[in-house]
Amino acid sequence: MLDSTLQATYDQVLRRNPGEPEFHQAVREVFESLEAIQNLHPEYQDHSILMRLCEPERQIIFRVPWVDDQGTVQINRGYRVEYNSALGPYKGGLRFHPSVNVGIVKFLGFEQIFKNSLTGLPIGGGKGGSDFDPHGRSDGEVMRFCQSFMTELHRHMGEYTDVPAGDIGVGAREIGYLFGQYKRLTNRYEAGVLTGKGLDWGGSLVRKEATGYGAAIFADEMLKARGSSVDGRRVAVSGSGNVALYAIEKVAQLGGIPVTASDSSGYVVDENGIDLALLQQIKEVERGRIHEYAERRGSGARFVKGGSVWDVPADIALPGATQNELDLEAARTLVKNGVLAISEGANMPCTPEAVSVFRAADIPFGPGKAANAGGVATSALEMQQNASRDAWSFEHTEQRLTEIMKGIHARCLETAEEVGRPGDYVVGANVAGFRKVADAMIAFGVI
Ligand code: GLU
Repeated sequence: MLDSTLQATYDQVLRRNPGEPEFHQAVREVFESLEAIQNLHPEYQDHSILMRLCEPERQIIFRVPWVDDQGTVQINRGYRVEYNSALGPYKGGLRFHPSVNVGIVKFLGFEQIFKNSLTGLPIGGGKGGSDFDPHGRSDGEVMRFCQSFMTELHRHMGEYTDVPAGDIGVGAREIGYLFGQYKRLTNRYEAGVLTGKGLDWGGSLVRKEATGYGAAIFADEMLKARGSSVDGRRVAVSGSGNVALYAIEKVAQLGGIPVTASDSSGYVVDENGIDLALLQQIKEVERGRIHEYAERRGSGARFVKGGSVWDVPADIALPGATQNELDLEAARTLVKNGVLAISEGANMPCTPEAVSVFRAADIPFGPGKAANAGGVATSALEMQQNASRDAWSFEHTEQRLTEIMKGIHARCLETAEEVGRPGDYVVGANVAGFRKVADAMIAFGVI
């Protein structure tokens, strides 16, 4: 049970947003953290900040008609939730996946507000996407879908209004088609209106790697705060998209041994450390399945069909696939196997029950809104480069990313300490992220 004022607001959120469990879960986690500052800040209650924060500023839902390769008309649903613009233009990715619905987009948008605030950069929170599944679709089909999606979305976007990017199912190919259609419809080369662009046309070095790099750096920082590091540690990574691939790369650079990767068909374990070039070839270039990795890698690597990647003993867990992929049972197994830290590369991959297990065992747990903020932070760096018509080197951009991740880690720890919950990164991230947004909202009056 939450404290009575928070509970009353939470009940109202439940009533107004029925059938959106992931959104409820994300809101509840933030409210639980805010109990730590509830009595210190009556002004937040006086200004109804929480209820205002839980109501998106604008929600756009639209029909996306397109024609498949057989000439059949297909209909998908498009979403953009422009959640909160207290700190800057709405900023957050687009997800193309069959599981996308308004509740999923709202949970992601809600998380994005605090994540973006934590980066310290001037970006508000938003998220969007569609129930379109790019898997098994030809490039032509993906292009026609993206063009149709942008035909509606473009009127809501702008470099000072709303700046989408990628997420699950939206990578360089999709951003290319989306940007091309935006440019054509508006007759403007407005580079800063989308991030995650190709390097030849306004993209930033390190953007592709940033989320995964950041999550690995965050794990390293959490361990360093306890006198240890990633160096020499076995790391279990889930997923095999952008986040997982580059978390694997950074773990190896930090001296760790990334031993797993997964997709919806199962997972691979490679005792010699995942061969990044091979995994990239299969997943990024060929868009293949994970079992091919074990077949091509040979001895030392094996494929496990279905099952849970968290059964693999590891010192560090880096969930990098999707929401609620790591449950109570998985958390218990990880703890039993001696896990030392968990860093969320995906958005909300650990269930609340799993997080409770880590907390009870006093194992440092980096929540996604802190640990995976490197992606959106580098998107903000891409916007900076676009605004100044500049392109930074890989080294400079990576250095900025590293500083930002270290800064987020430090801010979470300091804030947790300040509010009497030392070592609790969830409370630290939520309170630090929330305060900036809430104070800006108060400054703006009732709008
Ligand atoms: N989709 C990413 C996230 O969850 C990145 C968003 C962005 O770069 O705008 O933070």
